[in-house]
Amino acid sequence: MLALVKNAPGPGLELREVPEPRVGINDVLVRVHKTGICGTDLHIASWDPWAAKTIVPPLVVGHEFVGEIVEVGSNVADFGPGDLVSGEGHVVCGRCRHCLAGRRHLCARTIGLGVGRDGAFAQYVALPMTNIWHHWAGIDEEVAAIFDPFGNAVHTALAFPVLGEDVLVSGAGPIGLMAAAVARHAGARFVVVSEPNPVRRAIAERMGATLAVDPRQRDLRDVAGELGMVEGFDVALEMSGNAAALRAAIGAMAHGGAIAILGIPTEEISIDVNEIVFKMLTVRGIYGREMYETWYKMTVMLQSGLDVTPAITHRFTFRDHEAAFAAARSGDAGKVIMDWTA
Ligand code: NAD
Ligand code: ZN
Repeated sequence: MLALVKNAPGPGLELREVPEPRVGINDVLVRVHKTGICGTDLHIASWDPWAAKTIVPPLVVGHEFVGEIVEVGSNVADFGPGDLVSGEGHVVCGRCRHCLAGRRHLCARTIGLGVGRDGAFAQYVALPMTNIWHHWAGIDEEVAAIFDPFGNAVHTALAFPVLGEDVLVSGAGPIGLMAAAVARHAGARFVVVSEPNPVRRAIAERMGATLAVDPRQRDLRDVAGELGMVEGFDVALEMSGNAAALRAAIGAMAHGGAIAILGIPTEEISIDVNEIVFKMLTVRGIYGREMYETWYKMTVMLQSGLDVTPAITHRFTFRDHEAAFAAARSGDAGKVIMDWTA
């Protein structure tokens, strides 16, 4: 089969022939239809310091996908050939305290699809059956392809109650864009998106943000005041990984507010802990998706009218992977989809 491979340490990815994955008795083999490009894939492609210390080539990259099952192992009874599925990209150990208690998203021994094992930028991908999410017939396959980052958005946006609350989203990358739509769908009053990039601010407003502001030009406390918030934001979703964004969010929170941090900073961030103490803020880190509560919520929110399609801005065939990666790297794109059937 053809796959996008990190073949040796260093920058670049190669589209090349590799053996099809072998399916163990508990595994499912999926013929990949569509995939989404994630920041992680860009890090691996460019071979930044994180990739150099994390990735062991050769590796098939990619973890956001949708496809159809073509083969199941002998223990697999819940799925069969022809089912349209996506995969949870975190393969957990199944044996630690949290896994045994059903809190699989807290497993400390998680192995990432397309990071620690061969991934989904390929014509076929194999996963344990416990990592498979079965879609309803008729789902938009482009949306199904991005259930992984959509799940990051849902996990973060629903980390704290947003019904009737005022929500700040810092960073309007694909995940922040979807989180803004989720917060609005879940009943927030105001959803303010803070994002320096005007292209992404425009998409945020199409996705239901009350207002999208440039943090270099606007103080978030002024924005909150102008909208009529009495003290500040009740909930903040940190989706930029940027130090200034985190500090600005902390500074614009109301007493008793809550900050969910998904963004991954590239270096240490210093913050004024006094503000957290005296405002009595709750700060929670978010990694991945809750298995499978987040997946359930994604499904039913789409079925009840949530629309995340404006976050998808570019489509390529896998043969044009260089153009697809360039679009994702440009910073002006939302989600970039590659089609593996063409
Ligand atoms: P992205 O890089 O496309 O988006 C980040 C956005 O933040 C960019 O649009 C950027 O312009 C904006 N930004 C930069 N400085 C800012 C500032 N001062 N204020 C507000 N916005 C600012 O990323 P993405 O793919 O949407 O992912 C969002 C973040 O979540 C990234 O940091 C990513 O690494 C991280 N992530 C975490 C998990 C997890 O499980 N915790 C999973 C996936 C991604
Ligand atoms: Zn575990």
